[in-house]
Amino acid sequence: MRRAYSIFVSAGLAPFLILGACLVLALSPGLVPGELAGLVRYGPFILAVLGSAIGWWFNRGRAVFVMILLLVCYWLLVGNGGGFSPEGLAFLRIATLYLIPVNLLVLGFTAERGVLNSRGIARMLVLGLQLFVMLMLAGKADVGAALFDVLNYQVIDTGSFMADMPQPALILSIISVGVLLILHRPLETSFAAAIIAIAVATVMGPGFIKYGYLAATGVVLAGLAQEAWRMAFVDDLTGLPGRRALGHALAELGSQYAIAMLDVDHFKKFNDTYGHDVGDIVLRRVSRELARVGGGGKAFRYGGEEFTVVFAGRNVDKAYEPLEALRERIAAIKITPPDKNKAVSVTISVGLSERNDDITDPWAILKQADEKLYAAKQAGRNRVVI
Ligand code: GH3
Ligand code: MG
Ligand code: MG
Repeated sequence: MRRAYSIFVSAGLAPFLILGACLVLALSPGLVPGELAGLVRYGPFILAVLGSAIGWWFNRGRAVFVMILLLVCYWLLVGNGGGFSPEGLAFLRIATLYLIPVNLLVLGFTAERGVLNSRGIARMLVLGLQLFVMLMLAGKADVGAALFDVLNYQVIDTGSFMADMPQPALILSIISVGVLLILHRPLETSFAAAIIAIAVATVMGPGFIKYGYLAATGVVLAGLAQEAWRMAFVDDLTGLPGRRALGHALAELGSQYAIAMLDVDHFKKFNDTYGHDVGDIVLRRVSRELARVGGGGKAFRYGGEEFTVVFAGRNVDKAYEPLEALRERIAAIKITPPDKNKAVSVTISVGLSERNDDITDPWAILKQADEKLYAAKQAGRNRVVI
């Protein structure tokens, strides 16, 4: 339950809010004034083009790929691009219900490789080939009709209930959504939400497909925005917010706060002894403790093996205990390097300072905390100095 909740919140509520908003729009189309009706119909095109451009700009090839896929599928479905026969169109509609979850699931598992490089272009060619084959098949009415029957296979006869959604495609969609959500990353969560949007719109009926694509392109665009935010503010190695986020947090502080500077002891020697890879594992593990420091403290990776904890609205007295407990927890961590059989551990030193009437600039308080940190090192390390 808690994990489900954290997936929902930390991967971003945004995708689900967008899905909800589009569902409300679909159920009460009267909310959109007549003059703006075109926005719903053309919205998916606009969002997909915008998303491809932004994805390209941020070098997020997978998002570009998804946006192009959605754009082409939507164009085929609503625009009857190319004047297909009714059989051909029916086949296209059903084929997209397989094509979208499969591609989004596979992309969720592939590493980001950018856009205009050999790997990015190879992926585009794979997508192009799939679409080309789909169009070729749809162009031949008899082949389209035969394939329609195969793809529209219903395991259980449900009558008219969900008749527009082939059951294998539904199962494929559910599995893809589950797996993508477990990956627990913003872009992948947006892919899952896009699959949900298209499946729900399909079940609701042909008149709703535009809302489905509006939601799908909207969530992927929001996922891209979240991804860009993450790239700017979150440190890749540790998952903690980085220096830029620290700058924002310091700028927002009021008239009472405490700031701690933390540094891993003898880390250079640790790296030299066990290797940089083991050092990285330790930094990740230490950061996990830091992320839940408690006492209202928020941890940031200052750089290297140095961290900052900001206690907004607290003084040194309130911040000391959680830091002391953190220091003890970190000292108790035992990590066994992959190719060793002996567990290793590290300690941290901490300097803590609070705002006072003489010094009000957070960066100056941070510097003071850094001086206290130096004192902690001088005093023998593995301690908190106020
Ligand atoms: P002290 O107790 O005085 O802090 O000693 P120290 O060796 O920790 O101090 P120093 O600042 O000289 O060394 C920091 C070392 O941290 C240097 C570098 O090898 C290591 N380090 C910094 N960033 C990373 C990182 O991202 N990964 C790993 N594995 N090591 C890092
Ligand atoms: Mg250091
Ligand atoms: Mg150090």
